[in-house]
Amino acid sequence: MVALCQHRTKGAELPGGRLTLRGRLTAAFLAVVLGPVLLGAFFVGVTLSAVDHSRATERLGLAAAGVRTSIDALCQQLRAAADAVALVGDPAARSRAADQVVARGLAAAVRMADAAGRTTYATAGGPAGRWQDCAGSPATGAGALSARVGLRDPAGTDLGAVAAAQPVDRAFVARLAAVTGVGVTLLDDPGGITHTTEEQGVRAAVLAAAGKADGNRVTGTGDGRYVRRVGPSPGQPLPLVLSVPGERAPGLYGALIAAVALAALLAVLAAWRLARVTTRPLGELAGAVDRVARGDLSARVPVRSRDEVGRLASAFNRMTRETGTYVTALTSSRDQLRNHLAVLGDTLASTHDLQRILRVILDSAIAATGAQAGAVLLVDGDGVLVGRCVEGLTGRWPTPDPADPATLRVPVGAGVLGAVAATGEPLRGRWAPPDAPTGEPTCETYVAVPFATPGGAEPRGPDRPGHPPADGDPSGSDCAALGVLVLYDRVGGHEFHDDDVVTLRTFAGHAAVAVENVRVHEEAQRLSLTDPLTGLWNYRYLRESIRREVERANRFGRMLSVLALDLDRFKNVNDTWGHAAGDAVLVEFARRVRGVIREVDLAFRQGGEEFVVLLPETDARGATIVAERLGAVVRDQPVAVEGSGDEPVWVPVTVSIGIAVYPDHAAGGQQVLDAADDALYAAKAAGRDGYRLAPAPDPVPTREIPVVAAGAGPPDGLPRAGAADPAGTAQGGASSGPHPPRQSRGR
Ligand code: GH3
Ligand code: MG
Ligand code: MG
Repeated sequence: MVALCQHRTKGAELPGGRLTLRGRLTAAFLAVVLGPVLLGAFFVGVTLSAVDHSRATERLGLAAAGVRTSIDALCQQLRAAADAVALVGDPAARSRAADQVVARGLAAAVRMADAAGRTTYATAGGPAGRWQDCAGSPATGAGALSARVGLRDPAGTDLGAVAAAQPVDRAFVARLAAVTGVGVTLLDDPGGITHTTEEQGVRAAVLAAAGKADGNRVTGTGDGRYVRRVGPSPGQPLPLVLSVPGERAPGLYGALIAAVALAALLAVLAAWRLARVTTRPLGELAGAVDRVARGDLSARVPVRSRDEVGRLASAFNRMTRETGTYVTALTSSRDQLRNHLAVLGDTLASTHDLQRILRVILDSAIAATGAQAGAVLLVDGDGVLVGRCVEGLTGRWPTPDPADPATLRVPVGAGVLGAVAATGEPLRGRWAPPDAPTGEPTCETYVAVPFATPGGAEPRGPDRPGHPPADGDPSGSDCAALGVLVLYDRVGGHEFHDDDVVTLRTFAGHAAVAVENVRVHEEAQRLSLTDPLTGLWNYRYLRESIRREVERANRFGRMLSVLALDLDRFKNVNDTWGHAAGDAVLVEFARRVRGVIREVDLAFRQGGEEFVVLLPETDARGATIVAERLGAVVRDQPVAVEGSGDEPVWVPVTVSIGIAVYPDHAAGGQQVLDAADDALYAAKAAGRDGYRLAPAPDPVPTREIPVVAAGAGPPDGLPRAGAADPAGTAQGGASSGPHPPRQSRGR
């Protein structure tokens, strides 16, 4: 509103002297309105003036005719009077006839003259001044109008003349005025007035107009009167001026001017008002646009009408409102995304928990794209995409346990997800139900992007230490994709865009790096816990495992058997066939051990040619069976090592085994290890290639499990693992007797 007020106070001029729209509109309106008003006023004035002039001309024409008729009648009357006198023959009688004519009022005076022009008789009281003869040449300054008749004797001799006259005086002029109904003025010579019926105030104007008038022309005076001259002319010898006042109302022009002025004033007011009404919304709009330009999206303009400007204001308000909503949504989405990225960054930096990382990646991707559901699937060793993390998909795929993401399984190559994993190309669009079930979730819209290891091909999972590597991987090495990140059902029902694919690729990249990192981390951890030569777990992991397994056995009330193994006379192997052959024997020995034990059992290389096997949930009986098998599998097949020639050299190997069971023989992890070690020592002492069970710690000696000699029995007569004891007697006096001092066996 501040800007608006500033705008309003700028008036009709902009900086730089340019006229504002309001100024221009006002000027245009004034021009449109005032032009016709002025023209109309001028036309009315001219028309009225012309009508007035025409009517005055008409009136003056009639009056002029009246004047001529009156003077003509007067002249005929005077001529008849002079004729009547002239008809009398006797001069004396003629004088009496003249007196009678005057007495009867036929003339004001009669005068007789002889042939020489001398007056012979004149009636008394005749008008003074010159007598203007009706038929004489016109002249000014006449005192009377006369008619003259000649006197002749019967012989035709000129005897003189008789003239009858009527005075041309004020009364005469007044009579003419009364007869014609107009003002009558008798002019004097030179340029003066003899008699007039006009008032004193207008005489000068009439006289001035009469001076300009000639012929029958009608001339106006300055005060609105019209003037016309009548004579002198033949038959009307008097210089008369007729005058009439104009018929137009007094002050007509003043009223016209006042009307024009009023119209102008009204036009200015209307123009100003109209311009203001027109430009005010525009000014408000300009102010609001200015505010928007400065970033204030709360700017609104009042909608004052339903015309184009009103529609413009409505459209502006709608535009700013929607832009504001859009910006708010964008800001909130950006903040949300920023938070998610922060969480993602923290998670990636702080943990190797793949499940947690995938969850954060999935949530971030859903928030960034406005999806309603989604999943992260990883390709497993069988070439099947298996759900590792799902969101909002409960009940969308056929599964007995909707809460378990692993039940979401789509073979690579099947359906949308399988195609993405197989081709490595992202897909997006509307869901079309497949002809055959693919195991995919149902949805309306989807976008799916693959993610792969930075190197392209998925690395095979690490072999499990202590067990043989899995043989054959139907798809692992063929499939480039590590997994698929898929989102479903964008909020609002719209399809996902290419922008979403780009965004999703970013998150998929994070997922790939996370999976890779976790696997590298797992591999590093595995390497740090395994023996590089044999691939078995190392001593470090043994210590951790024994503690964990003892704890577990303790918690669940189960037994844990520990086997301590030591190759017999291994020094001789090295000495006879060389160190490399010794290594090969160790590797082969480890492989055979892995082949004998169960999945849950753990095999360790403790150091040198000493090994430990942990058998969870196994009692002494089970442990001796395993010990027998181990002894047999080593003993029965000499190990082939490279010799000096092409043929391999067969190295016979045997192993001695000591067995201890938790909690039967010891109360803790280290103790049970020591007990197994002691039993091993006993087995060695008993002649090697056999096993011994640790003695029970209580004074009552536990029943020893017989160690049966294998086959025909070795030359030293000691028992062999896996061999039956026909006598069924316990072997290894060391195990039933007191323990010999434990031999220090370097680790
Ligand atoms: P015994 O029956 O009493 O166990 O006799 P032994 O010779 O096996 O006993 P000893 O502990 O004296 O010898 C162990 C030998 O194992 C010593 C060393 O040369 C050999 N050895 C230890 N570690 C390795 C290894 O990593 N590779 C090879 N080739 N030999 C090893
Ligand atoms: Mg040894
Ligand atoms: Mg040895």
